[in-house]
This record gives sequence, structure tokens and C-alpha cells, in this order.
Amino acid sequence: MKINIAKSSGFCFGVRRAIDMCRDLAGGKRSVHVLGDIVHNTFVVRELEEKGIRKIKRIRPAENSILVIRAHGAPEKVFDRAKACGYSIVDATCPKVKEIYKIARKLEKNNRIIIIGDNNHDEVKGIAGQLRKRPIAIESPQDIPLKKLARVKKAAVITQSTQATDNINNIMERLERIIPEVKLHNTTCRTTRVKQQEIRALPRENDLVLIIGSKTSANTKRLYQISRGINKKTRWIECAEDLKPAWFKGIGSVGIMAGASTPDRITRGVVEELEAISSRFDKLTTP
Ligand code: SF4
Repeated sequence: MKINIAKSSGFCFGVRRAIDMCRDLAGGKRSVHVLGDIVHNTFVVRELEEKGIRKIKRIRPAENSILVIRAHGAPEKVFDRAKACGYSIVDATCPKVKEIYKIARKLEKNNRIIIIGDNNHDEVKGIAGQLRKRPIAIESPQDIPLKKLARVKKAAVITQSTQATDNINNIMERLERIIPEVKLHNTTCRTTRVKQQEIRALPRENDLVLIIGSKTSANTKRLYQISRGINKKTRWIECAEDLKPAWFKGIGSVGIMAGASTPDRITRGVVEELEAISSRFDKLTTP
């Protein structure tokens, strides 16, 4: 069984940077807290917890503590609250996400802002939290809020950094029919675009595709949806333990793509297990 790992598989620049910032802070004199998950991956969160970095759900008064703002950013009010509670802040927001903040703030002066993205995702909440007027978030073409848009005459559309091109195009097609003046400012990040290009080829070039990442990861979900749309034999796994040997009977090649927040050690574990499965099949078929 051939195993083909996509070139863009695994950590993106923003995730690697945020994790490195946390690792550097671990073991210091001050307690280190993260509001929510630093990145959307169970194994990364667990590793950092083992190093003493605590995930918190609410910001409460704290002494001698650091709050790390995660890779996907946070609304301004989170920074204000953390400062008021006595935290020192280490901002691990990805610079690409910060660029989206800047673009959104500039466009807000003359436009109603629409964000194409997952309504409940931290990044979308973070972008919304930079603006004076609440933006309209749209997740899919089925989710377009016609009533809200009826009064919008001029809009600027920005996108969550991990959005799929097809979804953006489908939503834009509809918005152009509803809003008299509407312009797309595609803020999908480069890493996402490269990954999405590769994930269109991988399911065509392989019999089966494995997407590796946590179920909470938006970019992993998108990779899975694109791949599955092309090749039904696409499986979304979190780690090697999820692999089932039966999936690989009669499979000649497996394509692997790990989400932007999946550590390389998890991918290595998957590859080792695949090699073991493959050699067991070889032994069964060798006379
Ligand atoms: S997916 Fe893009 S924007 Fe998001 S953290 Fe990674 S590099 Fe930054």
C-alpha cells in the first residue's frame, strides 16, 4: 500500500507560532492561562496542560498570571477584561488574523460588514469583536439571512481565514442578487488556499484519503468535506487509534492530509500504523 502525504499537511505558520509561544512561557515563575483551546487540537492542548499551561473558561481576577490569546484571536473586550482582572497578556493571535481585523475595521467606515464563516467560531467572534456595528455572519448559502439583508444597500464581504473557495463563491453569487453594491475581500489565508488546492488533487490520485485532525478544527472539517465530495473513501480521524484495518482491504494507495493544528507526531503515528496494517495484508496474501 502506497502512502502519500500532502506537502502542506500539518501545522500552519500561525498555529506553530502560538504553540511555540506557549512552550516558551511554560515553567516560568508566573502561572500561564489560555482562554479556551490554544489551537483546535486535543493532543496539543493536553501537551501544554502537562507543561502546566491551564485552560480556563472564564476570566476571573488573577495574580502573577499571564493570559495567552490563542491563534484565532479574541474580541477587544477579552483583552480589556483580562487587563482589568490583573493579567499580563501574551497575544498569540496569528498575524494573518490580525490583518483581517485591520481590513474589517477599514471597510466598516463605508460598508456593512458581512463575514463568511462559522458563526460560533472563535475567529469569527474575534473579527466581530473589533467592529463598532455587529457584522452579519453567513456560514453557507442555505444560511443567508434575507430579512437582515433587506435593508443593506452597500456591503463588504470578508472571509474567515479557513473558508473553502466553493462556499465563498456560492454565497457571493446569492449576495450579488440581493445587495445592490457588494464586494468580496477574500481574506482566506495562503496556507488554507494551498491546503485546499492539494486536497482537490489527493482524493483523485489515491484510492482512499485520511484527514487527520480534531473534530473541533474548522479547517480540518473543510478539508474533509472537500475530499469526501471527490472521493467517498475519505475518512476523518484524530489519531492512529481510530484506524480500522478493514478500511484498507484492496486499497493500493492512501493519501494523507493533516489539518493546520495537527502535530507531526500524530501523523507519524498514523503512518506507522498504516505500514503495520499494510505488512499484515502482505503476509496474508504472500503464498
Ligand atoms: S490557518 Fe492561516 S490564519 Fe489561521 S492560524 Fe493558520 S496561518 Fe493563521
